[in-house]
Amino acid sequence: MSQQRMQGQPMIILGEDTQRMKDKDAQSHNISAARAVAESVQSTLGPKGMDKMLVDDLGDVTVTNDGVTILTEMDIDNPTAEMIVEVAEAQEDEAGDGTTTAVAIAGELLKNAEDLLEQDIHPTSIIRGFNMASSKAKEEIGEIATEVDPSDEEILKSVAETSMTGKGAELNKDVLVDLVVEAIQAVTVEADDGSHVPDLQFLNIQTQTGRAVSESALVRAGVVDQEPVHPEMPSEVEDAKILLLDRDIKMTEADTDAQLVLDDPERLQEVVAREDEQLEALVDAIADSGANVIFCQNGIDELAHRYLAEKGILAVRRVKKSEIEHLAEILETRLVGDFDSISADDITEGKVTRDEDDELFYVEGSGHGATLLLRGSTDHVVDELERGVNDALDVVASTVADGRVLAGGGATEVELAGRVRDYADSVEGREQLAVEAFADSLELVPRVLAENAGLDSIDTLVDLRAAHEDGDEHAGLDVHEGEVVDTFETGIVEPAHAKEQAVSSASEAANLVMKIDDIIAAGDLSTEGDEDEGGPGGPGGGMGGMGGMM
Ligand code: ADP
Ligand code: MG
Repeated sequence: MSQQRMQGQPMIILGEDTQRMKDKDAQSHNISAARAVAESVQSTLGPKGMDKMLVDDLGDVTVTNDGVTILTEMDIDNPTAEMIVEVAEAQEDEAGDGTTTAVAIAGELLKNAEDLLEQDIHPTSIIRGFNMASSKAKEEIGEIATEVDPSDEEILKSVAETSMTGKGAELNKDVLVDLVVEAIQAVTVEADDGSHVPDLQFLNIQTQTGRAVSESALVRAGVVDQEPVHPEMPSEVEDAKILLLDRDIKMTEADTDAQLVLDDPERLQEVVAREDEQLEALVDAIADSGANVIFCQNGIDELAHRYLAEKGILAVRRVKKSEIEHLAEILETRLVGDFDSISADDITEGKVTRDEDDELFYVEGSGHGATLLLRGSTDHVVDELERGVNDALDVVASTVADGRVLAGGGATEVELAGRVRDYADSVEGREQLAVEAFADSLELVPRVLAENAGLDSIDTLVDLRAAHEDGDEHAGLDVHEGEVVDTFETGIVEPAHAKEQAVSSASEAANLVMKIDDIIAAGDLSTEGDEDEGGPGGPGGGMGGMGGMM
């Protein structure tokens, strides 16, 4: 296909195999593709949500409940469905949690939009209505959010626990919730204007298998999971002068004569001896810089090990990128890539200790920083733990930074739906219907939470609406009790920022999908199996393969 202009008019030239779908057909084709993706993650929403098992091409298995992980690993090759995956990724980047919520609301918005399209309401009106409703909902979040003291540990723990429930991390949540809050507090600084700024750069997560989750710990140091390159090196250095390297300690090709023809054994001896000398000179230069501890991201030539040990230097090679970058933050220094440019500033003072049982170095410096040592029995356990803990870290950080929280368990969504519905009365024209549809879509959250917990979703919604009409803004569903309660009091709380973000991402995604009124595809638009269901646009129409999905 190519696009040219003829007398100012865009003209589209279609190739022979090109398929084209327009207007309503295009919209309903895209909407069903997007909805299919959204529905695939709905069953994981909330503490009682189910897990998904994902198997990739190589047979590697991931068992998770994390929305964004599921969507990114599903390997979806339908362009519209990919837009929904992007919503999840945007939500993950912006808020770190709430991905399933954002995607599920987007799916519900599209479902309700489809009804409006069938009533011949133009997509432009729907998009405008959704935008109005989304702005209104975000404004109302500001009204109903509760301000919290960023150092209030009780509330931070509730936020962490809410995000962790239902994840692999839940079993050990008592230990993990404390660690998450402690970790965020360890890396939070108070800015000049009095605001609290958690800086996750200063926090590193180190995972270890073969141990109980309850043995997880927070250490106020950088951690390096390696050993000294030589047994005669010190393994602990009290007054460490640390150098971080991101180049090898070896002679580079350019330093030696790469083109030598080594047929004469004596010549070979000579070359080795010269290389040896050069390495020794290099080690001397490093020692002269004053460094007595070297963490190197790359390799250290075997020949240099002994020289370094003789100089009393602790040298460690093959330090993980994440570890060495974390050290750079903690030591407030940079990684050195070129020996000629080493300056006194590149050598920083610190303290290096070693835990022989775990075979870990602990590195402390002038900057604040911490490492969360996450332990678990197997890789699968630790991976899912890490996903859960990462979400919890993000929401606690968001709460500390933003200082506002909301009642969870669908309480906020029902309250917002009521307020957006009231607002709809003041909206003129067809947009009013779209604003109402938006309100209805928000209520998907409590409905699905109930459904996933095996409760009656209609009864739950009726109870929730009644409670909110009575003025109980915090009435939500506690899925463990199976009852409508004041979720704020029960400690089911979420950061306001993540919810705002979920509302925006959902409506932006729905609008994006609806805006498309013309699909021009180089290949076949319909996919295997759904021809007899009425072609693209039928149920599940056009999911161009969901490879990897069980
Ligand atoms: P997301 O990817 O959107 O964060 P989750 O699976 O983490 O999805 O579920 C989050 C939802 O679960 C939120 O609406 C939150 O309020 C709700 N939730 C958490 N704990 C409870 C609980 N004990 N009872 C009811 N809902 C809960
Ligand atoms: Mg979550």
